[in-house]
Amino acid sequence: MSKVLIIGAGGVGGVVTHKCAQVPEVFSEIVLASRTQSKCDAIAAQLDRPIKTAKVDADNVPELVALIEAEKPSLVINVALPYQDLTIMDACLEAGVHYMDTANYEPPNEAKFEYKWQWAYQEKFEKAGLMALLGSGFDPGVTNVYTAYVKKHYLDEIHTLDIIDCNAGDHGYPFATNFNPEINIREVTANGRFWKDGDWVETPPLSECREFDFPGGIGPKKMYLMYHEELESITKHFPEIKQARFWMTFGDSYLKHLEVLENVGMTGIEPVEFEGHKIIPLQFLKALLPDPASLGPRTKGKTCIGIVAHGLKDGKKESVYIYNICDHEECYREVKSQAISYTTGVPAMIGAKMMLQGKWMQKGVWNMEQLDPDPFMEALNKHGLPWEVELSRERPE
Ligand code: NDP
Repeated sequence: MSKVLIIGAGGVGGVVTHKCAQVPEVFSEIVLASRTQSKCDAIAAQLDRPIKTAKVDADNVPELVALIEAEKPSLVINVALPYQDLTIMDACLEAGVHYMDTANYEPPNEAKFEYKWQWAYQEKFEKAGLMALLGSGFDPGVTNVYTAYVKKHYLDEIHTLDIIDCNAGDHGYPFATNFNPEINIREVTANGRFWKDGDWVETPPLSECREFDFPGGIGPKKMYLMYHEELESITKHFPEIKQARFWMTFGDSYLKHLEVLENVGMTGIEPVEFEGHKIIPLQFLKALLPDPASLGPRTKGKTCIGIVAHGLKDGKKESVYIYNICDHEECYREVKSQAISYTTGVPAMIGAKMMLQGKWMQKGVWNMEQLDPDPFMEALNKHGLPWEVELSRERPE
């Protein structure tokens, strides 16, 4: 029985709150706090048990510490934005509570994400006797756990890893992003990068494309090579991996709009002067685009996220594909959200559950693949993200 403080009342925050509320035997009390308290109240009104809401600016450490000390949660679940990771970690250390998030730290004025800033907290968390669990969403998150599960049960050595994220859903808009537009566009317009024989290889944005035949009735789709944060931690913790890549599918309409927006400078993160004000084009674009939380009722179709790992089992070549299929409309019926927030929010709740039940509780800063995958995999089946295993699946060329 534990009290949790969830920070961030966006698409993912809504799902985590719903899912924690479904497990009262672990999450006996829930506080949801965000910059805009009315968003917390709107989520609270959807639930069939009472929770507390609060207003907090997560960029402000003293404000966070005051809230944590007033509420005394066992764990803070950070589902605000990657920019707030370090301030929330600092506040957790000061107030003496465990920490968890779903995305690694990104400085606001530079489109760059890396684990180095959060890994640097290792000693502080260890000394304080606290745990920080990093990246407990789907990718990162479940994809890291899938990798650890393959290594534990299917392959003695993993040689190549392809993480494959397909959203075959349709929201009916010509252009919208399924999660925070600013974070999404910064990620997609960055150079691609993959791990090859002990080093990173860079590729121009979205320049590498393959077709992959997805299960669950989705069929063949084009996917593009991108850099994604779990590649950094997985290749560190499984140094045997010779090649690791991340792929994401995009529809033609999304890519066409993105190209135009980029060409006219709307995806820039440098401030520009406009009628006497400084504005950041990407933040202005975010204000024009549909709020990802509003896509829920109109999105149809499925997502399929998984990993294809190749390597050796008993000295013979083997390959394993593990994936989850998630249906946008079913997610909406359950928690009033589309599948992208659902596939992030469910693993966030499960990561928190693993910590609070003591199954994963350890001192220090941890990535998901470092912990025993079995209880997490079992919980995925129980809490709405069941997975399938397919042997002998060809990896993308
Ligand atoms: P949203 O933009 O929908 O929600 C973010 C929420 O955080 C908003 O409610 C916002 O409040 C709040 N927030 C932002 N800044 C502050 C602040 N300074 N203080 C307090 N609250 C703040 O984003 P998502 O829900 O889509 O994403 C949440 C997180 O999940 C992100 O870090 C994202 O990168 C991560 N993610 C991870 C995935 C994974 O698989 N691992 C996949 C998808 C997302 P307000 O509305 O008032 O501005």
